[in-house]
Amino acid sequence: MKEPRLTVSALLLGPLLGLGLAAGCSGNAPTVTQTSATPGTQTSWAGSVTPEVRVRLAAPQRDGKAQVSVAGAWVLADLEGAQLAVGSGLSGELLLSTTRATLAGRSLPRDGAVLTPQTNGDLRIGKRRYPGVLRIARSVGGEQGAFVVMDLETYVAGVVPGEIPAKFHREAQRTQAILARTYALSSVPADAQGAPIVVSDSGGQDQEYHGIPTVAAHQRIARDATETTRGLVLLDGATPLRAWYHSTCGGRTASAASVFGVPDRVALSGVRCDWCTSSKYFRWNSRLVAKDVVRAAGLKGALEAFEVTSRDVGGRATRLRIRAGGKSRDVGAPVFRLRIGPSKMRSCQLDQIEVAGGELVIAGRGWGHGVGLCQIGANTLAGQSARAEDIVRTYYPGALVVKLW
Ligand SMILES: [Zn+2]
Repeated sequence: MKEPRLTVSALLLGPLLGLGLAAGCSGNAPTVTQTSATPGTQTSWAGSVTPEVRVRLAAPQRDGKAQVSVAGAWVLADLEGAQLAVGSGLSGELLLSTTRATLAGRSLPRDGAVLTPQTNGDLRIGKRRYPGVLRIARSVGGEQGAFVVMDLETYVAGVVPGEIPAKFHREAQRTQAILARTYALSSVPADAQGAPIVVSDSGGQDQEYHGIPTVAAHQRIARDATETTRGLVLLDGATPLRAWYHSTCGGRTASAASVFGVPDRVALSGVRCDWCTSSKYFRWNSRLVAKDVVRAAGLKGALEAFEVTSRDVGGRATRLRIRAGGKSRDVGAPVFRLRIGPSKMRSCQLDQIEVAGGELVIAGRGWGHGVGLCQIGANTLAGQSARAEDIVRTYYPGALVVKLW
């Protein structure tokens, strides 16, 4: 249950984003018919297809290499689909540099290549198993790196187990599937009409994607959550909502504007939450080493003072002033939190702060950035028989739950 990343590199299969949301939508997009005029879960868009997602793999991007294997038959083709090689069984290194790319010792075309296993799920990269195909792209419309390409529903089923514990209620799992789908779609830049989807898996703060779940029970739970919410997306007006979520809000969710500096939206403005008191991080205490605090503030010397200079309407710290070595510095609280470590300062809901004995002693509430849905609260509501569709409306007021495919 990691918190979503502050930044996401992503492009969307443009024609599909436009699908049905703009009147007179045509071109490459499928013909769309609104079969129900009722806003909410009953609205469906007939004739649409599931968009494709390209998940950018972090390891080859970072290290310039990754171990790739396919146990059964495979086909290697160029980006236009022309076959380059076929075989059965493949194991070797993918090497990516600015000048060339090779896979298991074979030089790849200048633009890139696609490796398609005959059996879906037969692709291994590093220690993980992936559905779909491996696409290696080099400077194709700005798209560069190694991607696993799959349909969005398959992607959602892979995200759910990484973002929510399997023991959470079924409606909480379904809620997470709606958010995973929406968050991926919202990663699309406005100028990406016609471009493919790219969703980063670079690990840590972004929505995590770890390939095919290794535990069979987790696979079943995620598949159920995905299939029973198929195509359901949260819309803010005509566009997919940036559906941030976090572990525990501590009593009130935060506004996206104050945490991420994005334009204020009603659906992301923050709501009261009475349902996460059971979280072990509803209240927490932490002792931070003073010199780490000083370094995170970009200062030197002994820590002299640490104060909250600004809070949002819910009481969450937005600005901090840190004084050390005779100098003081103002820092955004969410930025400071990520610098010092999000599990050391679990949230910006800071109730008590004390500089004592070479330490910064703080007491706070909640875990995560606080924006959007509170996962522990959602699980409590799910345990009280709330439906996923109602849970998301509770945390994202005014957002519509719409079935896009
Ligand atoms: Zn909460």
